[in-house]
Amino acid sequence: MNRIHKYFPEMGINIFWYKEHKRISNISTPNLTELNNNVVLCKKCDLSLSRTNTVFGSGDSNAEIMIVGEAPGKDEDLQGIPFVGRAGKLLTELLDSIHLQRENIFITNTVKCRPPENRNPKTQEIDACAYYLDEQIKIIKPKVIILLGKIAADRMLNVDKPITELRGKKFFLKNHSIPVIVFYHPAYILRSPSQKHKAWQDLKFLKEILSPHVN
Ligand code: URA
Ligand code: SF4
Repeated sequence: MNRIHKYFPEMGINIFWYKEHKRISNISTPNLTELNNNVVLCKKCDLSLSRTNTVFGSGDSNAEIMIVGEAPGKDEDLQGIPFVGRAGKLLTELLDSIHLQRENIFITNTVKCRPPENRNPKTQEIDACAYYLDEQIKIIKPKVIILLGKIAADRMLNVDKPITELRGKKFFLKNHSIPVIVFYHPAYILRSPSQKHKAWQDLKFLKEILSPHVN
C-alpha cells in the first residue's frame, strides 16, 4: 500500500479526488486499480491495436450511480478518461442540473478502447470486454446503472429495440440484481438539440428510481 492509500483516507481525503486533480490516475480502490492494471495490458480484442490509451472509467468507487456509455471517442482515447469530449461536457451539465456531481458517479463504457474512426463497437468486442464491466459492477455495487444510447442498451440487455421502447423502464442485467435504466446518449442530444426535453425526462426517471417516495 502506498502512502497516499494509507494516509489520505485517514485524513478524510478522497483518493479519487486527489488523483483526478493531480491527473495521476482516475481510479481509487486497490481492487479497481488492479483491474485497471489488467485493462492497460489487455489484448483480448483488436481494439487494442489502434488505441492510444485504455479508458477504464472514472469516478467514485462507492458510487450509487454507474453510467455505461458506448465506447471511448477521440478525446477519451487521448486522455484515458471517459466522457471528456463534447458529449461528456453535456453529460456533466445534465447531471449537474439535478445536482449530481460526476465525481460522485462512476462513469465507464461497454468497451475500454476506442473503436477506429468512432465506429460502433462490435458485439464480439463488447463480449470480450464484458468481464471488466462485470467486475466494475461487482466492486462498485451501484444502486442503479444507466446505459447511454441504443448500442449500449441493446448489447447489455441483449435486445434489439428502438430506444423509445427501452427508456422509462427498469431492467436487470444477467447475474446482477441492480436496476438498469436506459437514457438517450448525450451525443444524440447534441445532434438534435430540440430533443433536449427527452434528456430531462430521463433524468426525472432517474430521480424517481433513486427516491421512489419523493415527487
Ligand atoms: N461517448 C461514449 O459513449 N463514451 C465516451 O466515453 C465518450 C463519448
Ligand atoms: Fe481488452 Fe476491452 Fe480493450 Fe478489447 S476493448 S482490448 S477487451 S480492454
